[in-house]
Amino acid sequence: MRILAVVVIVCGMFVNVNAARAESPWIGVHFMVYTDKMLDQLAEQLPALSKRGVTHLILEINYHFAYKSHPELAPTNGITVVGAKKFADTARAHHIEIIPQINCLGHQSWKQNNAALLKHYPQFDETPGAYPDNKDIYCRSWCPQHPEVNRVVFALIDELIDAFEAKAFHVGMDEVFLIASEHCERCRGGDPAALFAKAVNDLHGHIVGKRGVQMLMWGDRLLDAEQTGYGKWEASGNGTAPAIDRIPKDIVLCDWHYEKRDRYPSLAVFLDKGFRVWPAGWKKPEAAEAFAAAARGCQNPRLLGYLCTTWGAVEIPNLADWPALLRPIEKIIAP
Ligand SMILES: [Zn+2]
Repeated sequence: MRILAVVVIVCGMFVNVNAARAESPWIGVHFMVYTDKMLDQLAEQLPALSKRGVTHLILEINYHFAYKSHPELAPTNGITVVGAKKFADTARAHHIEIIPQINCLGHQSWKQNNAALLKHYPQFDETPGAYPDNKDIYCRSWCPQHPEVNRVVFALIDELIDAFEAKAFHVGMDEVFLIASEHCERCRGGDPAALFAKAVNDLHGHIVGKRGVQMLMWGDRLLDAEQTGYGKWEASGNGTAPAIDRIPKDIVLCDWHYEKRDRYPSLAVFLDKGFRVWPAGWKKPEAAEAFAAAARGCQNPRLLGYLCTTWGAVEIPNLADWPALLRPIEKIIAP
């Protein structure tokens, strides 16, 4: 009884501690890919990944694709339609679902370099003209209220969905720090939660509403940093958290936490709101194992499994034997 009580407290009031899983657990790997060559290398790992129990692969592509709708955003050596189709066919043969990703809203720059969208459309910048060389900021954002930005981004999303014949799409949206900026003539003085929710709902309207494709996103901006006790990176300290009550419940929230913790209150927050939750860890095997164990302890059918992020910490040839992938898998799919 004591154990059951703990499970209920940790995982929320809607938890049925005896509930069986509605489907097999989702065992995912998130990988950033830039070229067809990388896809070919990754394809060689698919048999081993499938054997380990991997069911999903999130490919973060961003602007590294030969976009036909917006060739001005395409790199010279990006992923091609042919390369994407070849990879998707191979993945399907190994029963692995591909989820392409463009990181939306935030992460529009890295260090001093702006990503292709803001390079070619500087008018989409939430902080136009501010922070020269991206000094004193983490990453740039696009403006969720710019009247033209969705038209461009939706076309890119469509191309990736079509190229990979994807049934699901990941929109990123983590670590958005620049929102409702004083430097934006449209958003100045606005409510960060309302603006974040608008961006989510616009994307949902296209991806789910128009395309009929499942939408996933990172969950950090929907968590209150103070209430959950997480820091301002893996939760929000900039006013976006109330957006959690203003977005559709059919979005899968990827709840990332990379350090070992005694408890992971975000699982209960998201499950109690009615979302499906995909817990995501990174490179520390003991932290990944602890998070996976906490997730499994929820015994909630809306808790999907485990997602292993990589962020450059493992080379493709070593991926299938990476302890940070294998140890949490043991926790999720062990009998
Ligand atoms: Zn704006």
